[in-house]
Amino acid sequence: MKVKDERDTKIIPVEKNGEYVADIIGIGHEGEGVGRVDGFTLFIHGALPGEQVLVRVVKLKKQFGYGKLIKVLKVSPERVEAPCTIYKQCGGCQLQHLSYEGQLKYKRQMVVDSLERIGKLAVRHSGEERSQGQGVKLGEEGILVHPTIGMSDPWRYRNKAQVPIAQVDGNLVGGFYAQGSHRIIDMDTCLIQHENNDEVIRRVKSISREMGISAYDEATHKGLLRHVVVKIGVRTGEMMLVLVTNGETIPHVETLIMKIRHKIPNVKSICHNVNREKTNVIFGNRTSVLWGAEFIHDYIGDIKFEISARSFYQVNPIQTEVLYQKALDYAGLTGNEIVIDAYCGIGTISLFLAKNARHVYGVEIVGEAIADARRNAKLNDLRNVSFAVGKAEEIIPAWRADGIVPDVIVVDPPRKGCEPELLETMLEMRPKRIVYVSCNPATLARDLTRLVEGGYVVTEAQPVDMFPHTVHVEAVVLLVRNSNL
Ligand code: SAH
Repeated sequence: MKVKDERDTKIIPVEKNGEYVADIIGIGHEGEGVGRVDGFTLFIHGALPGEQVLVRVVKLKKQFGYGKLIKVLKVSPERVEAPCTIYKQCGGCQLQHLSYEGQLKYKRQMVVDSLERIGKLAVRHSGEERSQGQGVKLGEEGILVHPTIGMSDPWRYRNKAQVPIAQVDGNLVGGFYAQGSHRIIDMDTCLIQHENNDEVIRRVKSISREMGISAYDEATHKGLLRHVVVKIGVRTGEMMLVLVTNGETIPHVETLIMKIRHKIPNVKSICHNVNREKTNVIFGNRTSVLWGAEFIHDYIGDIKFEISARSFYQVNPIQTEVLYQKALDYAGLTGNEIVIDAYCGIGTISLFLAKNARHVYGVEIVGEAIADARRNAKLNDLRNVSFAVGKAEEIIPAWRADGIVPDVIVVDPPRKGCEPELLETMLEMRPKRIVYVSCNPATLARDLTRLVEGGYVVTEAQPVDMFPHTVHVEAVVLLVRNSNL
């Protein structure tokens, strides 16, 4: 007979629509407060750890529920007034009501919790905080998880804005989708966006209104302007504007270009992308240059990058440099090493490492990204890098069969982490060091466990805040091969 889970029979201590006092004990994946009422978990948006809040239960499941914050009864010392006036409607940021110091602490804690709870790995704690009985798999010391490296000015860091356009009450508006809906709310400024991007968007909206350019309507699939995309090379100041339209041509395009150039002198490139599909994907397949250059440029460290309308580029280049510098430190290169950069995107990490290595091999699944990577290698006159298009879990075993023996493997996988086949190949290749760059502490912890079982020791982890005021947590981790194996 199947033994019934005792939780099934446990009485739920709250009722839907009832009001309760909850103690907040943590932050959930969407920045919500994790609350407890008589041991029962309620997720409560807007509540912070350490607070006691009055909450109304709005949704109830067997194991947990969702509550609406009615009143904060005991206020966290880390609570601040969110500076953005549209913070609650927008949802693009989730942590503006937590002080920046608090955010950095929370991001480190996310890494520690995942390593301990999911990875069952030992984390080094100072003094009496040392965890008991956890992480038997590692040496005495445990993993050193450094404090999160934040930004000295954690605002206006984004170098790219992609703004949806709509017609609301006869007016062309552009801004953001109200949380959980397809309704577009007009936005004048976004505090995490570069000022120049904000400015260009305001001006393009006003020029479009002036010229009577119609806005796209999702429901009827009519109207022209769908998205305004703006990018800036933060180090060069160069800007690119991309107009995404539901139509092949833009009426009076010459006048439009002239007005844009007149009002926005920093713009170096104006592009047109046609997207006639019924989709919420921003770009269509065809892009042309309306005026100016096809590319703008930016630098990460001393590597120069060419950025096109469609190419992927990190949105916070200042912190990207911090993150990659850490990856470079952890790689411990002397100039003689063979390095593999798995999930290399446009080769940002590969190029960053190439100056200090004998050869870097990068692999990435998106063909256009590899084309960018190769172009950027040329642009920087880096000849000791080669790139392949394909799945890391297929290409790297093929490299192994070809006799490539890496000293260091760097991985920077998407949220779902590395494929198990890749982890096995990495273990078979036995590099001295593995540097794992992660945007998801949960899959990071899962993958580290496998690598530890296979003979590696996780020594340090460095969380880096790439996206201030959002819940995204990025970390770079060093693993070294256990010398006894
Ligand atoms: N390292 C890069 C980008 C990392 S993002 C940078 O710093 O810019 C993760 C990348 O992995 C994406 O570019 C995605 O296209 C790629 N990717 C996803 N699955 C993959 C797979 N199975 N094999 C290789 N690349 C993959």
